[in-house]
Amino acid sequence: MTEIIEGVVLKTSDYQEHSKILQVFSKEHGLLGIYIRGANNYKSPNFALAQPISHAFFTIRYTDGLSSSFKGEIINPFQNLKLDFTKNIYVYHLFELLLKNLEQHEAHFDLYSLLLKTLNVFENSNDLNLIKLLTIYFELQLLYLLGVGPVVSHCVVCGDTMNIANFDISRGGFVCLNHVDKPHKRYGIATLESLFKLHTSNFEQVLSIANEVNNDVLIDLREIMTNFYMYHLNMTTNAVKYFNKP
Ligand SMILES: [Zn+2]
Repeated sequence: MTEIIEGVVLKTSDYQEHSKILQVFSKEHGLLGIYIRGANNYKSPNFALAQPISHAFFTIRYTDGLSSSFKGEIINPFQNLKLDFTKNIYVYHLFELLLKNLEQHEAHFDLYSLLLKTLNVFENSNDLNLIKLLTIYFELQLLYLLGVGPVVSHCVVCGDTMNIANFDISRGGFVCLNHVDKPHKRYGIATLESLFKLHTSNFEQVLSIANEVNNDVLIDLREIMTNFYMYHLNMTTNAVKYFNKP
């Protein structure tokens, strides 16, 4: 039985001479492997469809293994994004996080919708600080979805909401003055406040506070996210090493 699904191509690999296997984050089925015949030939109408970052409808034969597709229709090619090396670093970082942390065939409507909103801003904005902040926001939302989101409303040890003094990566959230471990790096109040705001804001609110977040805070937030994924999920991405390059 065929069905039409909507999705974003996260990754492609060549298959035999002219075909490809796509890893697609779909609205209907979550992560999905799709075999698409003829897509490796630039004359094929499926060629543009089978490029990473393409947002498209796919007519597929759905199976619980590898699904197959013979046609589709591009919704948004995200052409600027595809051609911008700096933006690519952030996009492929997010894609890699999805590929490494989500199960196949599990739909996540909210995360799918967040990914599309994020890609749309990346496509249309040249504000690198905004792109960095939205990347961190997406990472935070993914952590909560995976059940390992940081506690940023009270001390993770005693529940105190006053006297918050640091973010402790190994303990998984805020700690108060009584529970600060001396050897750990101390993050500034602006960084802690930004984490709290990112936790309590929706996407549109994050867009409106983006210009309040300064460079030093962004550097701290980047470090916290990278270390948090490493400590709690034991994973990182290939893109991480490019984050600090100019
Ligand atoms: Zn405490």
